[in-house]
Amino acid sequence: MLDMLRRIVQEVNSAPDLRKALDVMAKRVRDAMGTEVCSIYLLDESGQRYVLMATEGLNTEAIGKVSLGLTEGLIGQVGQREEPLNLEDAFQHPKFIYLEETGEDPFHAFLGAPVIHHGKVLGVLVVQQRDMRRFDQSEEAFLVTISAQLSAVVAHARATGDLAAVDTHAAPLPAFFDGLAGSSGAGIGQAVLLYPPADLNSVPDRLADDANAEIALLDRALIRARAEVRALAERAGKSLGKEEQALFEVYLRMLDRHALAAEVVEKIREGNWVQGALRMVVDEHVRNFEMMDDAYLRERAADVRDLGRRVLAHLQSDDRKQQEFPEECILLGEEITTPMLMEVPREVIKGIATTRGSRNSHMAIVARAMGIPTVVGAQTLPLKQMDGREIIVDGFRGRVIANASAELKHQFEQIIREEATLLAGLEKLRDLPATTEDGKRIPLMVNTGLMTDIMRSIERGAEGVGLYRTEIPFMVRDRFPSEEEQRIIYREQLQAFAPNPVTMRTLDVGGDKPLPYFPIEEDNPFLGWRGIRMTLDHPEIFLVQIRAMLKASEGLDNLRIMLPMVTSVMEAEEALHLIHRAHAEVQNEGINVAAPPVGVMVEVPAVVYQTRAFAQRVDFLSIGTNDLTQYLLAVDRNNRQVADLYNSFHPAVLHAVMSVIEQAHEEGVEVSVCGEMAGDPAAALMLMAMGVDALSMNASNLLKVKSAIRRFKITSARKLLSEIMAMDNAEVISAYVDLQLEKAGLGDLLGHRRPVV
Ligand code: PEP
Ligand code: MG
Repeated sequence: MLDMLRRIVQEVNSAPDLRKALDVMAKRVRDAMGTEVCSIYLLDESGQRYVLMATEGLNTEAIGKVSLGLTEGLIGQVGQREEPLNLEDAFQHPKFIYLEETGEDPFHAFLGAPVIHHGKVLGVLVVQQRDMRRFDQSEEAFLVTISAQLSAVVAHARATGDLAAVDTHAAPLPAFFDGLAGSSGAGIGQAVLLYPPADLNSVPDRLADDANAEIALLDRALIRARAEVRALAERAGKSLGKEEQALFEVYLRMLDRHALAAEVVEKIREGNWVQGALRMVVDEHVRNFEMMDDAYLRERAADVRDLGRRVLAHLQSDDRKQQEFPEECILLGEEITTPMLMEVPREVIKGIATTRGSRNSHMAIVARAMGIPTVVGAQTLPLKQMDGREIIVDGFRGRVIANASAELKHQFEQIIREEATLLAGLEKLRDLPATTEDGKRIPLMVNTGLMTDIMRSIERGAEGVGLYRTEIPFMVRDRFPSEEEQRIIYREQLQAFAPNPVTMRTLDVGGDKPLPYFPIEEDNPFLGWRGIRMTLDHPEIFLVQIRAMLKASEGLDNLRIMLPMVTSVMEAEEALHLIHRAHAEVQNEGINVAAPPVGVMVEVPAVVYQTRAFAQRVDFLSIGTNDLTQYLLAVDRNNRQVADLYNSFHPAVLHAVMSVIEQAHEEGVEVSVCGEMAGDPAAALMLMAMGVDALSMNASNLLKVKSAIRRFKITSARKLLSEIMAMDNAEVISAYVDLQLEKAGLGDLLGHRRPVV
């Protein structure tokens, strides 16, 4: 059964479009189950009717014509109940509706399974049989399994507009792909897919203007690939057995202009560019091999894939022409690394969208530093199909939109204009203090990590650095930076902001922040060896870092050191001890620097309950609401599936933050907030009302937060806070705060939560 399933799924997934995929599915399911009919009904674009989209066994003339309402017939019944319906005789069921056009008269036995994707019914998969009989449990299980597979195909097709194209009575509708808001702002442009080299799977289809030129490229690549294989065979020489040597012969034959290549040429003649044509042909052969029953032949799929990769590498290395970018483009990719990003001229990038990553992935941090509207983790975004299309990136809400209507596009153009006006208007606030209308002042600091953050922060009038993420300079290297290398990097930060304080956090790797040269393999990395846990186990790494920080602060004395992911006072004590030791060592080297204030981040819920104990040991506290929210709510901050549950306005988070501030103040210790919450104008006002001593945020949000503070009264903020602290529902709290701020005339600053569509 499993084997059969695997083959059906492979065949369905490789169908060129939805109609073919559905036809294959109906045929294969009917054959596999030995029934007489298999039909697929899908909800139409309006979501109101199930339309017959494919059938094996019923009248094919009825495809696209026959439909049933949401509560009509047995199909409606399956959709409504969201569970399989197994009937010995469909005609006896009170809900049965006879559809003459389908010619279903002779079929009595009925088994229908809903097609459900992410909790939404998309359609119904049905098998029917002449004999009156109940389908047995294994048949039911098979249909449910195959239907779950079908759901992903349908959801994907719906998202790309494919469904609209086959649906006879619907025009293409806008397609929305939800992801996470990586960097706020909106952008419209032509999608350009960036993909890693020599990766066949990520090659998109593109139209080629000149087939002959593409064929010439192919020929050149083939010559080089053949030479490469020959050289390989020679090098391997006699150490290989007969069988392996024969393999090289097979390789060379496959690379012959008349074999695989002939098929590639055919695809080029049909209009695809050479790389896309190669991908198609290789895919087809790989699939054929993979479907073989013979295990040895199945293994050959890997050979074809390998050959494809080799030819592709030559094609790409031959592709010397500088890639041209449209004047306004949206960069797409599974992941976009910093070097990939740097190859594109900044002025043409209107937005970025990736299928992987999270709000706090390196990519999102870089995008924010560069002020590019970005959506990350849009898992369902069909990258290859999007390539070349006009798309919209909504970095406020975390959405990518394709097939936008003129009206929708116009709406976004308006938002982009408003945002630009807003930002231009905010620039005049640069040198003004963040003081409320009734005189309460709060220092606004920045979170940094990249060199580019320094400029942007200073341009926006930051009053120091509340969080310098030292792991970022560690991530862009291929080994741990030396003490001297670190000293130079840190010195630049300290100097740029002096005499304002710079809070340097000790290395916070692990979790979602791996170092390429220090892999940590864990089943549950967020609950694992991260932050201070790792560095205390490696005092050599910790001490080098602290010494570099201390030396960098010579003559400036604006350094503050902060410890991430602390859970118990023991960890804080051990770290303090090491910091004292490093300080003594540096002094002994003749470098006279003051002992810096040391603080602890409040990120682990355990610390909320022990704030006083920590406050007695350190000089300051800083609440990392990103992690505190994830650990309090047990919601992985990078997991798209549970992103809706991640909300820093959850009453538990608000009460925890409030409690930390109160306890710290009772001990006479200052407490700041450096998580994303601090950069949200609404949340920042609430944190200020709670009595937090400083806010630290991304440079992009600083002026918006300052503007909110300067246009609000602390007394009003405190009143609003007391109201929300009595509420018990995160969504209600968010909506209520937004409403009150809108009433107070701050609606322009709330774009990040304004529902556009
Ligand atoms: C936090 O957890 O809130 C924080 C500021 O640290 P990071 O986002 O780097 O984990
Ligand atoms: Mg953190």
